[in-house]
Amino acid sequence: MNIVFLGLPGTGKGTQAESLAGEMGVPHIATGDIFRQAISRGTELGKKAKQYLDSGELVPDEVTCGMVKERLAEQDTKPGFILDGFPRTIAQAEALDRIMQELGRELQKVIFFSAPEDVLIKRLSGRRVCSKCGATYHVEHNPPAQRGICDKCGGELIQREDDREQTVIRRLEVNRDKTQKLITYYQRQGKLTTIDANGPLEEVQKQLKEAVGVQ
Ligand code: AMP
Repeated sequence: MNIVFLGLPGTGKGTQAESLAGEMGVPHIATGDIFRQAISRGTELGKKAKQYLDSGELVPDEVTCGMVKERLAEQDTKPGFILDGFPRTIAQAEALDRIMQELGRELQKVIFFSAPEDVLIKRLSGRRVCSKCGATYHVEHNPPAQRGICDKCGGELIQREDDREQTVIRRLEVNRDKTQKLITYYQRQGKLTTIDANGPLEEVQKQLKEAVGVQ
């Protein structure tokens, strides 16, 4: 099944995408993760994307769409995929429709993760990430046993540059209207299901599985 996860930053869609993709045996394709990896490896893509990620702005559509087109053409997406963080603009949604058509495939479902913005600001600005293995924590809701140290690998926990409060607020501003337009776009295509992402992890997971028809 080919699925898009839509939602503002901090709705927990990345965590849910990772676990559902594992269960379904399909790749979890997160455009933010691809950009961060490219930046840490110092590739051409990383050089193009860095300034945008640091400030919370969107990477230009032509860069992002080209990258997604290449990724979706890879063999491992044949059984399906979960696309997380793309599309973020109507131009990207239209590009995705074209890419799918060229590949002779169809987007089946779009899941919108809904949560109030004050909750998102608290979630993102309290988030800490392991600099070694990428595991995520939250200073209040999911703290590590030892402050600043990853439980899984002992790596140092850091705050992502774009999780600082001012950048979080900017990221929400940048994405708010665009997300609303995407909701309308996919509602018109009859593909949208909205789930309440403000509850406990297990509750969100349950709604999600119902929405995609996985037991
Ligand atoms: P995320 O991890 O999804 O919050 O994305 C982190 C950052 O990567 C965003 O603030 C943007 O700078 C960039 N980014 C991720 N996905 C996209 C996209 N579809 N279009 C443009 N920029 C993106």
